[in-house]
Amino acid sequence: MTAAVPARRAARQGLIADFNQTVILDAVRRSADGISRVELAAATGLSAQAVTNIVRQLIAGDLITEGRRAPIARGKPRTMLNLNPDGQYAIGVHLDPAVITYVILNLVGETLAHVRQITPGDPDPTKLTAGAAAQIEKLIKKAEISRSKIVGVGIAAPGPIDIDRGVVIDPPNLAGWQSVPIRHAIGEATGLPVLLDKDVTAAATAEKWHGAGDDFLFFYLGTGVGAGLVLGGEVFRGRTHNSGQIGNIIVDNDGLPCPCGYRGCLGEGSQPRRMVHQAVATGGLDRAVDLDDRRAVETALVELADRAAAGNSAAEKVMDGMVRGVLKAAEDIALLLDLDRVVFGGPHWNTFAPFFTEERVAVLQRRHQPQSTHPLEVSGTLTGDDVGAVGAATLVLDHTFSTNPAVLLAS
Ligand SMILES: [Zn+2]
Repeated sequence: MTAAVPARRAARQGLIADFNQTVILDAVRRSADGISRVELAAATGLSAQAVTNIVRQLIAGDLITEGRRAPIARGKPRTMLNLNPDGQYAIGVHLDPAVITYVILNLVGETLAHVRQITPGDPDPTKLTAGAAAQIEKLIKKAEISRSKIVGVGIAAPGPIDIDRGVVIDPPNLAGWQSVPIRHAIGEATGLPVLLDKDVTAAATAEKWHGAGDDFLFFYLGTGVGAGLVLGGEVFRGRTHNSGQIGNIIVDNDGLPCPCGYRGCLGEGSQPRRMVHQAVATGGLDRAVDLDDRRAVETALVELADRAAAGNSAAEKVMDGMVRGVLKAAEDIALLLDLDRVVFGGPHWNTFAPFFTEERVAVLQRRHQPQSTHPLEVSGTLTGDDVGAVGAATLVLDHTFSTNPAVLLAS
């Protein structure tokens, strides 16, 4: 714990100022059934006096509440402390090329309200940020919460991002988005502190909060694919917050040519636009689809999945190619990093999930086994459809709670 951390942290408007407060708050959050002051002192290494003072401040600030009294063998029963769910709120925005999702979470991570809208086709980012600010105001009204308790807005965007300037640089799947200063724009429009991170990082953060473990891969399946990583209990971001670009991992020697110059890249075989294109060309879909119309591609992707489920062999072949590619990449990443678990999620997970059958997952696990000392768990998201937006809001909560200097200084 260096002196620089609390000082820098205190400078951030809207977030909890004191490092020791953060330590206490995080310990209370981690104790599902509440924790006493004595246990807090033992867990944090802070003196009993310091704990008493900080707890008093946190109760006065409405962040924790005194709950039941737990009897002990001798002496006065101990009062258990819990988080006050309504002590603070965080807003999350997930900017996906197909859908924009907005959520409000309370301090314990429950979703109070959510809104979804189809991403406007107009490539003017100024209009999009103005629209997003208006949606955020709508969401605050819908949740009927006090604005003064909103600790900030988290934005999850496709990479690459410039974390220092709060800029979405040039995401391959968002036409018209070049160097958009989204953090500043949303901050100006809402008057709230804003934090920007990559969509896959946000999703991994949400899964970590929901108990996915300390060493796992969040395999993001959206308009693009991506890897969110939690290693040793911390969300891994890489040097510039842009880790997780896995689209050019080669998974099929005979696959489609990729703009990168190779063939059979994961990103090409699992991209909805290319899957729909391939299905139209091979008879998996029996009508032409305007591949530049995102909504039409989304609809066609669901139809393709339905036809594959109904036994159309050309449709099955497209879905099968996607699943094999995704599982091969997941296997390699899990082995590279010695992970316990792979979690699948993202905007297209619901459509794809039925094709990740037990048999196919078992093949992955059998391939993994001889190269590892432990089994590999494979599951779908614990967070659900809104994982990107919930993750974005969780990033804000994570700032409130995290005692990791790297997280504290990230905004
Ligand atoms: Zn490629």
